[in-house]
Amino acid sequence: KSKDTGKNKYTLFDVTMEEELNRNSLITEVLRHAIANEEVYVVYQPQYNIRKEKMTGFEALMRIRNPKLGELYPQEFIPIAEESGMITELGEWILREACLFNKKLIDSGFDSLTVSVNISSVQLSKANFIEIIQNILEETGLPAGNLELEVTESTLVSSLSNASVQLSSLQELGILISLDDFGTGYSSLNYLTNMPIDTLKMDKSFVNNICSNEKDARIASGIINLAHSMKLEVIAEGVERIEQLEVLRKNRCDIIQGYIYSKPLLPHILLETLMPDPADSEFNDPASASKA
Ligand code: C2E
Ligand code: MG
Ligand code: MG
Ligand code: MG
Repeated sequence: KSKDTGKNKYTLFDVTMEEELNRNSLITEVLRHAIANEEVYVVYQPQYNIRKEKMTGFEALMRIRNPKLGELYPQEFIPIAEESGMITELGEWILREACLFNKKLIDSGFDSLTVSVNISSVQLSKANFIEIIQNILEETGLPAGNLELEVTESTLVSSLSNASVQLSSLQELGILISLDDFGTGYSSLNYLTNMPIDTLKMDKSFVNNICSNEKDARIASGIINLAHSMKLEVIAEGVERIEQLEVLRKNRCDIIQGYIYSKPLLPHILLETLMPDPADSEFNDPASASKA
């Protein structure tokens, strides 16, 4: 009987693997035509500055909607895009979209905001990456200081890219660099001190238990203090509850990003959120609009 079970398990595993391979090759095909078919789009998640008590930036997050496969999320398709090389094209597409959108906001008279775009190690390892970014800034007219690039610890460690040299050149252009998912990777403090970084994004796994787990609370507070001692700004990711916000505020975290403030939004919804309410005379001055 035990032999049977073993055989069934093997068969089940086999079928699952085959299904996964099929889905992966379907997604690869979708990715190949996503831009031409207009199946790729961007959502923007606002970031709230606790000290300034206003929105100071937003992160661009990629989405794909395909008639056959439905809604696809980055956790599934980004690894496939990286493997197939499609990330280079998709990454350039979202960079241009995000810069164009932020330029539009600036031209509409809102307070100057920072747009953050996630960058894959595959993109960063390309010799012409700096050139691509420069071209996009030139084309869209977005000032370099209104663009932030998010890289993860694994990207910094990756032997693929001469990451620190590339990032230094970008920083010299005036672009901001943010270290994403901080605390989940294998970066040593040595990396942190030697890399050109402006912002540290504390991973949501620390924020999760910041109220219930004393150890996580101490780690979070330690990360914030460490970042500040290095003159970095700290963003807490995945803030969902008011109690988490209170602990972060007490620990002098600079910025929060999470469902408590806003979900990722379609561009026109974000625009509406920022728009002054015509019925409210206080906001008739567009310069004060984004302070609402
Ligand atoms: P990330 O850069 O760490 O982005 C934050 C993720 O947390 C987003 O997931 C966001 O929707 C989610 N999130 C925001 N607030 C909350 C919250 O309060 N609670 C919870 N549970 N989650 C929250 P998303 O959009 O699914 O993206 C997942 C990851 O995929 C991103 O993590 C990023 O690493 C990658 N990614 C997304 N867009 C791109 C892209 O254009 N290029 C590249 N290379 N990677 C991307
Ligand atoms: Mg990110
Ligand atoms: Mg993150
Ligand atoms: Mg993440």
